[in-house]
Amino acid sequence: MKKEILKVENISKCYKTKKHLFSKQDEHVAVKGVSFTLHDGEVLGIVGESGCGKSTLVKSIIRMIEPDGGRIELFGKDFMSLKASDLKRARRNIRMIFQDPYSSLNPRMTVFDIIAEPLLIERKYNKEEITQKVRETMKRVGLDLGFSNRYPHEFSGGQRQRIVIARAIITDPKIVICDEPVSALDVSIQAKVLNLLNDLKELLGISYIFISHDLEVVRHIADRVIVMKDGEFVEEGSCDEVFESPANSYTKELLASIPHIEVHP
Ligand code: ADP
Ligand code: MG
Repeated sequence: MKKEILKVENISKCYKTKKHLFSKQDEHVAVKGVSFTLHDGEVLGIVGESGCGKSTLVKSIIRMIEPDGGRIELFGKDFMSLKASDLKRARRNIRMIFQDPYSSLNPRMTVFDIIAEPLLIERKYNKEEITQKVRETMKRVGLDLGFSNRYPHEFSGGQRQRIVIARAIITDPKIVICDEPVSALDVSIQAKVLNLLNDLKELLGISYIFISHDLEVVRHIADRVIVMKDGEFVEEGSCDEVFESPANSYTKELLASIPHIEVHP
């Protein structure tokens, strides 16, 4: 068995919202105590309908939002108790790619600055090293070096997602969490971006947590898959097991809603 690089135990998150200043507080438990492990070199898919808590789960894992409870171990070390400065340092190893490349790219920054920013934050590289690293990363994700001084709005959705990917991999992370990374893209572009993620995995030895509401996309890229419903995991197994012979009735329903996958009762 490959090494466990991320261990998530019993993570939960409840959102407390108020409609008006004096109205009663609403509570919604978006993630209900879930646990899983990510192994070295693995692509772990998490599927489930919109609103089932996928984004809340992964944002909690990197502590973009603080989970209410649970344990997270990253490379054998407790990730939950890290203080702000250590958390910043640890995050170079666990990076995130979001669905919408429009809102995840600062429109006033050039492509070069967007991709370089995570290195600048680390304050340990000089100008030449940064330039070198940005160029190398742009080439890796298939971006023309001539684009360096352009702005995000000048690019297509697929190219913008390549910029997002470059920014994620420039710190040489071991884990990249992809939250619906191709959902906003045209179908013809989706395959290209998925292939790029696959190539980068081999080349750089990255492990992915790959989130999507689209089962076809997950089937294409994941080794193992978890099915999530209403904040809980209802099924987990290898892609072949889950897609060929799902055990859970909800998984069967999800699969049955895709026209060209045949599900045997
Ligand atoms: P998914 O990524 O699977 O679509 P989310 O994690 O975004 O699901 O949302 C899970 C649930 O939590 C949804 O019911 C959503 O409305 C709710 N939710 C998400 N973010 C917030 C928030 N910041 N405040 C209150 N409720 C939220
Ligand atoms: Mg989401």
